[in-house]
Amino acid sequence: MANILVIGEHAEGKVKKVTFELVTKASELAAKLGGQAEVVFIGSGISNTAEVGQYGAKKAYVLNNANLEKYNTDAYTKVLFDLVNELKPQVVLGTASPVGKDVLPRLAARLDSGLASDCTNLDIQDGKLVATRPVYSGKAIIDVKFESALQVASARPNSFVPSVVAAGAAAEVVNKDMDAGTLRAVLKELVKAQSQKADLTEAGIIVSGGRAMKAAENFKILAELADVIGATVGASRAAVDSGYATHDMQVGQTGKVVNPNLYIACGISGAIQHLAGMRTSKVIVAINKDPEAPIFTKADYGIVGDLFQIVPLLTQEFKKALQG
Ligand SMILES: Cc1cc2nc3c(=O)[nH]c(=O)nc-3n(C[C@H](O)[C@H](O)[C@H](O)COP(=O)(O)OP(=O)(O)OC[C@H]3O[C@@H](n4cnc5c(N)ncnc54)[C@H](O)[C@@H]3O)c2cc1C
Repeated sequence: MANILVIGEHAEGKVKKVTFELVTKASELAAKLGGQAEVVFIGSGISNTAEVGQYGAKKAYVLNNANLEKYNTDAYTKVLFDLVNELKPQVVLGTASPVGKDVLPRLAARLDSGLASDCTNLDIQDGKLVATRPVYSGKAIIDVKFESALQVASARPNSFVPSVVAAGAAAEVVNKDMDAGTLRAVLKELVKAQSQKADLTEAGIIVSGGRAMKAAENFKILAELADVIGATVGASRAAVDSGYATHDMQVGQTGKVVNPNLYIACGISGAIQHLAGMRTSKVIVAINKDPEAPIFTKADYGIVGDLFQIVPLLTQEFKKALQG
């Protein structure tokens, strides 16, 4: 059957929102193929795997083995390879997350299938997957068609809206003990970032600061705005190189690729390497005192002025609007 297998992601025992996004899309595509969407989770103790049923998935496979508790390149590739060979889906979809970026190319190579990575849209045409993906640092968007019978793709977080298509429905959960094979390396420890906020790559709203922030302590005004609107704080490379922000906050070609619903760029000029990381944001707001700044050519809304006046004003107004 022409099924779609989604590689599910979870953190702290819970299925992540990115998986619900992907399952929603997968069930829409599976209907076009005349098949069904199924999800595979790797690891144990994940609490809400059956919940993917609400987003249209019919089955949730949970692959378990002591060597699968923490991400491992060799083990994940092997068990996914074995499962795909057993289930024979037509399409395998994953998230363009650190795990997806690591495992999917290996899996596709081992399965001898085509791979489209970091896609922003997916469709079915003439019975095959068509993947839309940004290329040349996001300057062009292309549609990729597959020659191979098996089609593998990864999608950027926030590309699809998670939508409950069958309220209360539960996917059939199938637990499987897997042979994880020989491991050449093991992940010994995972150190969690201190922030309680959503990771930049999955954040729905991002407030970013550039060189114009002038000092690390000035990022406090961005954090205050972020707290009010539920955003994660990002930065340009110039802000990171100047020591105002940490590298895990960097957005761009050599930082993180983000895809939020709203990106607020504060004192960022809009260099091509920065745009490469954020130009697929659904709505871009730029605050810059230079009306000629290149960021304004990409922004949906532009505010010309001093960010040190405008950001606190926005915080105040959002507070009034959102908190009454
Ligand atoms: C190989 C390579 C990889 C790179 N990777 C990345 C990357 O991943 N991410 C990235 O961001 N960059 C990257 N860069 C660097 C990139 O080219 C730019 O240098 C950088 O993005 C500039 O950061 P900025 O916009 O914060 O600083 P600037 O270009 O200096 O811009 C600062 C802006 O702030 C405005 N401003 C000043 N004061 C105020 C104020 N008070 N209020 C409002 N606006 C104000 C100015 O008008 C200006 O537009 C890379 C470069 C190279 C060569």
